[in-house]
Amino acid sequence: MDQKVFKQQLLKQIYSPYINCNGCPLGCLGRNHVIFGEGNPDAKLMFIGEAPGRDEDIQGRPFVGRSGKLLDRSLEAVGIKRTDVYITNIVKCRPPNNRTPTEIESSICKKLLLSKQIKIIRPHVICTLGAASLKGLLEKENIKITQMRGTTIDLDGYLVVPTYHPAYILRNPKELKTLIADLELARRLSFSTDKGGG
Ligand code: URA
Repeated sequence: MDQKVFKQQLLKQIYSPYINCNGCPLGCLGRNHVIFGEGNPDAKLMFIGEAPGRDEDIQGRPFVGRSGKLLDRSLEAVGIKRTDVYITNIVKCRPPNNRTPTEIESSICKKLLLSKQIKIIRPHVICTLGAASLKGLLEKENIKITQMRGTTIDLDGYLVVPTYHPAYILRNPKELKTLIADLELARRLSFSTDKGGG
C-alpha cells in the first residue's frame, strides 16, 4: 500500500477516540472542534504551533487565520508547499480567550496525540512555532525562544528547528526575515537528514 495512504489511515485510527476529547480541561472550556492537524501524513517536515485560535476553532483547521496566512506566505517564500508538510499544534483545542495552554494541557495532549502523530509521520525535521510549542515538545519550562531560534536540537533522533510564532511576527514585522531564514534552514535540513526517531 502507498505509504501516504497507510499513514493517513493510521492517523485516522489514532484520532477517532478523541473526536470529542475530554482528556484535559480544554475539553469543557467551549471549544467547537478538536483540530488534529492537516497536510502530508508522510511529510519530511512537520510544523507544531501552540493552539488553535478563533478562526481555526470555527473552521476546524490549523493555521487558517491571520497567523496562518502569514505562515502560508512565509512557506511560499522559501519554496515550501503547505500540502507537502504536516501542520499541527501542541494542543488540539482552542484555549479560552486564546490564552497560552497550561503545562498540564500540553503534556496530556502530547501524550494522547502529538507523540503518536510524530511516531506515525516520522518527519526528518520538526519546526516549532513559538515558545509554547518548543516548551511543550521538550517538556521544559525555562526556555527562551530568542536564545533557541537559529539552533537545532536533537530530540529522540528528530531534528527540532525552533522559530518564532507567526503571531509574534505580526506584532514585530521586522523579524519576518528571521522567520524566513529559520524556515529555509528547516527546509534544507528536512531534505538532507536521515530518517530519525522511533
Ligand atoms: N496559532 C497557533 O499556534 N496555531 C494555530 O493553528 C493558529 C494560530
